[in-house]
Amino acid sequence: MKRTGIFFLYLIGERLNDFPEELEGILNRDNVYFYEAFYELKPTPEELLLQVHSPRMIEGVKQTPYYETALYSTGGTVQAGESIWRGEIDNAFVFTGTGDHHAGRDYFGGGCHFNGAALAIASLREKFGARRFAILDTDSHHGDGTRDIFKDDRDVLHICLCSQNYDNGTNVDIAIPYHVTDEEYLARLETEFTPRIAEFKPEIIFWEFGYDATSGDYGSKGLSPDCHPRIASIVKRAADDVCRGRMVAILCGGSRRDIARYCIPRIINCLAE
Ligand SMILES: [Zn+2]
Ligand SMILES: [Zn+2]
Repeated sequence: MKRTGIFFLYLIGERLNDFPEELEGILNRDNVYFYEAFYELKPTPEELLLQVHSPRMIEGVKQTPYYETALYSTGGTVQAGESIWRGEIDNAFVFTGTGDHHAGRDYFGGGCHFNGAALAIASLREKFGARRFAILDTDSHHGDGTRDIFKDDRDVLHICLCSQNYDNGTNVDIAIPYHVTDEEYLARLETEFTPRIAEFKPEIIFWEFGYDATSGDYGSKGLSPDCHPRIASIVKRAADDVCRGRMVAILCGGSRRDIARYCIPRIINCLAE
């Protein structure tokens, strides 16, 4: 059994209207810890933002209505990483109101404002001397912002399942065709992700969990909702094998409320097993 942190904020949009109620039965377990924005969950401090994003970009986000949401969304990921390093929890699920993966060093867009995985990595390096990290992106779209931040960083393995193929060792894209089956997708993940993680040996895995590739959502590749908890178990097993189970699932793209309601409790159950 793992100790699992759930990082949660209100202000998070229609797709998550069933939460935290849908976590009934999960939240009262002894091995599940709930961190709520404005209480246990703190916003990302500006000094940390400046380690990842340009002053101009941060100013731009301040002009949007999403600034506070972005501070708490990324704050959850930063705090998840720190809590794992301090040994308080083993893994985490982070609810977000704005995503990470289209937010680069000097730009933002596509529903992403600040890059939480990048901020967490900056924090773990500075506070704990952590060195090697992996980011898996199973959102339907290319994680251009994350790639922009880490393209020259050989201590960060970025594996992105999207619509193109690329591989220079630490920047890896895997093209997923339309109308893929769950079995084909998961087989691809097993052959492309698992061995790379075993070889790279990250100290933690960040998983950008977007569900927009689910059939009927805006980035559909034809996946069923069941595919996502199965991805979670593959990531969890890889984390168990190489980094003592350290992983953080970060909510990324996806719009359908019914898919969120179906997938998220199952993913958290998998993490907490
Ligand atoms: Zn997407
Ligand atoms: Zn990609």
